[in-house]
Amino acid sequence: LVSRKKKAEDTVVMVKGEPIGDGGQSFIVGPCAVESYEQVAAVAEAAKKQGIKILRGGAFKPRTSPYDFQGLGLEGLKILKKVADEYDLAVISEIVNPADIEIALDYVDVIQIGARNMQNFELLKAAGAVRKPVLLKRGLAATLQEFMNAAEYIIAQGNDQIILCERGIRTYEKATRNTLDISAVPILKQETHLPVFVDVTHSTGRKDLLLPTAKAALAIGADGVMAEVHPDPAVALSDSAQQMNIDEFNHWISELRPMVKVK
Ligand code: PEP
Ligand code: MN
Repeated sequence: LVSRKKKAEDTVVMVKGEPIGDGGQSFIVGPCAVESYEQVAAVAEAAKKQGIKILRGGAFKPRTSPYDFQGLGLEGLKILKKVADEYDLAVISEIVNPADIEIALDYVDVIQIGARNMQNFELLKAAGAVRKPVLLKRGLAATLQEFMNAAEYIIAQGNDQIILCERGIRTYEKATRNTLDISAVPILKQETHLPVFVDVTHSTGRKDLLLPTAKAALAIGADGVMAEVHPDPAVALSDSAQQMNIDEFNHWISELRPMVKVK
């Protein structure tokens, strides 16, 4: 059902009244993890000023080490929702447990399924069973066929509001955290009718690459770009090395603005 052969027209995903995949390009920004109301509100204010419509922030963090910050959980979703309402933004946050999908419906506008859960089939089915947009990230070592099959699990349950997100894959290269597979964008656009985003933060793990990779994503036809922004990355509880501060974010977005397609 995700195949272009089954449906020729692009699927437009509606996020709080805003279309994704209609030919325009947009951004999802926000901190790696929700840490406090003040932290999220600072990013929301900057995002709003730049005309961004979707705010991100992790509440349930799937960390590689069990001793790293695991996120604020439901409290994090509550903070996101409060900030989003105050700034009239849509919010996206990762859900890791199928049982939390129902709870998340009250707090988020888009359910994120993370790279580590791309083949958590019970989670995919649970996200497919609700009527809420889903942003599905490519698995750490998933082929594009496996990625599309994961999306198929969601759409097979009746939910076609799916955004695919390329976030880099595991290769032998150590210069970047993951290897951004930029050609995944046109391939996914050709093979499926779903919108495709590129997460420049987790694919590169390097602040100095956020601008060139975002330019590449927009130029190659991505429907949007995701990046992490934190008011004070040095004290961030996760991904402190690669999140932009507010000034860096403002510069980044102003450099990208001239090439963003608007519908
Ligand atoms: C995230 O976006 O917060 C995240 C953990 O990314 P990924 O699942 O791509 O590693
Ligand atoms: Mn992160």
